[in-house]
Amino acid sequence: MKFIFVSGGVISGLGKGITASSIGFLLKKRGIKVVGVKVDPYLNIDAGTMNPYEHGEVFVLDDGGETDLDLGNYERFMDLNLTRDNNITTGKIYRSVIEKERRGQYLGKTVQIIPHITDEIKARIVDVARESDADVAIVELGGTVGDIESMPFLEAVRQLGRDIGRGENALFIHCTLVPVMGLVGEEKTKPTQHSVKDLMNAGIRPDMIVCRCSEDLSEKAKRKISMFCDVDESAVISCPDARTIYEVPMILEKQGVADYIIKRMNLGLISKEPDMTDWEHFVESIVSPDYEVEIAIVGKYTALADSYLSHLESFTHAGARTDCKVRIRFIDSDLFLSKTPSELLEGCDGLLIPGGFGVRGVEGKIQAARYARETGLPFLGVCLGFQVATIEMARDVLGLSDADSTEFSPDTGNPVIVLMPEQQSISDMGGTMRLGIRHTVIAPGSKASELYGGEGCDERHRHRYEVNIDYIDRLEAVGWHFTGRSEDGSRMEIAELYGHPYYVAVQFHPEFKSRPLSPSPLHLGLVRAAIDRKYVRGTGRGDLSEKRR
Ligand code: GLN
Repeated sequence: MKFIFVSGGVISGLGKGITASSIGFLLKKRGIKVVGVKVDPYLNIDAGTMNPYEHGEVFVLDDGGETDLDLGNYERFMDLNLTRDNNITTGKIYRSVIEKERRGQYLGKTVQIIPHITDEIKARIVDVARESDADVAIVELGGTVGDIESMPFLEAVRQLGRDIGRGENALFIHCTLVPVMGLVGEEKTKPTQHSVKDLMNAGIRPDMIVCRCSEDLSEKAKRKISMFCDVDESAVISCPDARTIYEVPMILEKQGVADYIIKRMNLGLISKEPDMTDWEHFVESIVSPDYEVEIAIVGKYTALADSYLSHLESFTHAGARTDCKVRIRFIDSDLFLSKTPSELLEGCDGLLIPGGFGVRGVEGKIQAARYARETGLPFLGVCLGFQVATIEMARDVLGLSDADSTEFSPDTGNPVIVLMPEQQSISDMGGTMRLGIRHTVIAPGSKASELYGGEGCDERHRHRYEVNIDYIDRLEAVGWHFTGRSEDGSRMEIAELYGHPYYVAVQFHPEFKSRPLSPSPLHLGLVRAAIDRKYVRGTGRGDLSEKRR
């Protein structure tokens, strides 16, 4: 088993996750089996209890793990399905060490960060790598070198490198920033040098340095970094701002990153030229699209795009498939309380109401859903968006003006959305929702079956509330058709309006399984409907005849 450790310095948000994912992609393209592991130094057990403004969206895995959004990048770039064990946090490590201590497993010893915490970290990393049966595990160390929280992890991977053999079995890649200063655009390598010094203080000498920069690094800067940081010049890599994150593998490939790694780690496949045609085509469709539509996302966390990262990626995938740039207009749902939907949604070709929790913003989302239903604006509701669309139908079409979810109005006379029965006795917030993959049976002849190309789908879930089955017949009678249900028929998973260009809502989260070359069917459906609206039906803003369809 071989490991590539990816650390970061200078600033956070350098795109370490994209670098790690892209390296995984390049190795996988050469037939090497890879897996991604993310280490997060926070004390939370998992990302599940965190507000999206903390670290961006909570990504959900097949097994229901609620993880850091980087796991989403790994899955999308490396086309893998990961498990919750692929996300290691300080919280998980401490919890298991303390549990072992309580069981007396440390045989009377004083339990300490070194060796007990570091041993636990090493054991977890090795276990998840072994479990995956991969040739190479790419382990991304969250946080920035020099942070107090990251130190036990750096020490653990230093030891691991020493145990299994630096170079051939353990390669260290450090990501840094090379800013450009002044009118002549001088590249500044000092922050990189200092950050590498921090890493060396922890006993780790990097084998490769990936530098984020606005343009390709000059040979001079590369030489300087190579000299002062003691890495091969061919292992100083430029990672200039890309046109899309999906271009990063190609940027790294051009500089021989994979070949360098393969040689250093003795992976023995250097002559195998990877076939990247599909991917190049995908990137080409993103950077030079034929169409352009604008989709509104109405939510509560719209000030941070990362809160909805998987949706944005799903739209990129769907856009690449349809040769269409999907521009996103983020709208804070509370704005619907002071402005009209037509003012806010003017010029949009589609609307997404994503998942969410808590009452704030819900009334605004209901306004937005109503506007889409009444005006024929293509609409996709996801999780809370599905519940909101159901409440909207119950209020406005069924005439139950107090219809609500018991999440927002516990005493409503018409609880169309209710807590799932098995949730009623649960008081802990972490990891207790209905999580992960569940099968949905899809009604033949429905829009959903057309989108999924069959009579079922397996998508990931993350919710506590559901449609109250007492209202199903009445809702269906007024046109809200539940065309996707759980296998036993008791849980509503998909609903759609007939006779509307595209009005579909789902209890699950299709965005988590969207992949570059196999986009989420529901996002693809929304983008297609948005293209139809703008270029075919004609809103006066586009003309299909000029375009290739
Ligand atoms: N708050 C809703 C529930 O718990 C929706 C959850 C979500 O959108 N992820 O069911």
